[in-house]
Amino acid sequence: MGQAPSCGRSSYDHDFLKAVEAGDLAIVESSLRMDPDILHKTTLYDRLSPIHIAAANGRLEVLSRILDLSVHPDLLNRHKQTPLMLAAMHGKIACLQKLLQAGANILMFDSLHGRTCLHYAAYYGHLDCLQAILAAARSTPVADSWGFARFVNVRDGKGATSLHLAAGQGWPDCLHILLGNGALVSASTGGYSYQGSTPLHLAARGGYLDCVRELLAWGADRKQRDSPGRIPYIVALNRKHGACAALLNPSSAEPLVWPSPLKFISELKPDVKALLEAALMDANGEREENILKGTSYSLPSPVHSEGEIDNDNASEASDMELCCICFDQICAIEVQDCRHRMCAHCTLALCCHSKPNPATLCSPAPLCPFCRSSIAQLEVATTRAREEGDKDSVSKPCKSRKSQNSSSEGSSSFKGLSSAMGSLGKMGNHGLGRIADVVI
Ligand SMILES: [Zn+2]
Ligand SMILES: [Zn+2]
Repeated sequence: MGQAPSCGRSSYDHDFLKAVEAGDLAIVESSLRMDPDILHKTTLYDRLSPIHIAAANGRLEVLSRILDLSVHPDLLNRHKQTPLMLAAMHGKIACLQKLLQAGANILMFDSLHGRTCLHYAAYYGHLDCLQAILAAARSTPVADSWGFARFVNVRDGKGATSLHLAAGQGWPDCLHILLGNGALVSASTGGYSYQGSTPLHLAARGGYLDCVRELLAWGADRKQRDSPGRIPYIVALNRKHGACAALLNPSSAEPLVWPSPLKFISELKPDVKALLEAALMDANGEREENILKGTSYSLPSPVHSEGEIDNDNASEASDMELCCICFDQICAIEVQDCRHRMCAHCTLALCCHSKPNPATLCSPAPLCPFCRSSIAQLEVATTRAREEGDKDSVSKPCKSRKSQNSSSEGSSSFKGLSSAMGSLGKMGNHGLGRIADVVI
């Protein structure tokens, strides 16, 4: 932090605070033995206490020692910032966790911008701190008294949520975590009575393509206007962020959107969710390529990375089942109970079009396209063929563990789906619309 103690203080105090800043436990200990009250010294201007300085500089040993001496973890500095906020600001995860263990309050607001520690972690893009705070928010009294969702969406003095701040600073990973924890994708800084900026406006302003992509995949509205009446597309254009503008142009193809806030998805197993997320980004990546084709923007796309399903499975293709809906991808997902299998793309297509009932906001459980039973849970289908020695799966790619449902309803829905999805290697939106008609 480097705030020198004031000239009015003794050099002794100065040395002590310097030792805290440097994490020199020996000097800290000897100073404390000589004068226990030294713990209550602060820097003059910012009124940083030793615990603030230790937290901001990531000095875990010193911080732990101070907390052991029953110093309150929520001391305030001049700007009403807590040590927890400073740890979140500087990304000092070990200190942040220590403070949380010591009972630091996550629901404190500074006097600078009215921000919480969650705002700080999001603004500075410290993903690990963000996750630790969210985990704490689920298990502390805050969750009971305030509600977890309300905490995630808490606004600062200018109406910005943590999602706004992460979008405005260009931290897509933080966006991803916040959205997965219930952050409202189209929250407006304007509150209820007037229009303000959405996270999409702020990502557009900064030209953060990954953030734009993430927000769109979570259903951010490209047509929502800010207080001057601009849609995010105009904001990106004004700032000359061409690639962002191309994706934000309301006349360009709609991206595939996570079926959020579908309960179904939030309860997915992490490995299945990862496969579906990769499929979604893959599908949207192809869409982006088409949008940007013919423009002068190259696409720094992360979508064809290690997470990509095709590549993952390509080497094992010989002993994996081909999806018999699209006949294009490998079966990566298995429906629990009936054990019918399909690829991640086709699974996603099913889920994306199980729209919530507008009256109840309850989402219907997606149906297995083969047997029409409700899909309660999904599994990753990777090794069954090898585990069980099921050689049939090679020669008869469509065969699943349970033989295909031969009832008229099952087979007709399967045929309809199969034809509708025949061209779905690319997950075109028109194709998806047709699937929805067939399946639901
Ligand atoms: Zn498929
Ligand atoms: Zn089934």
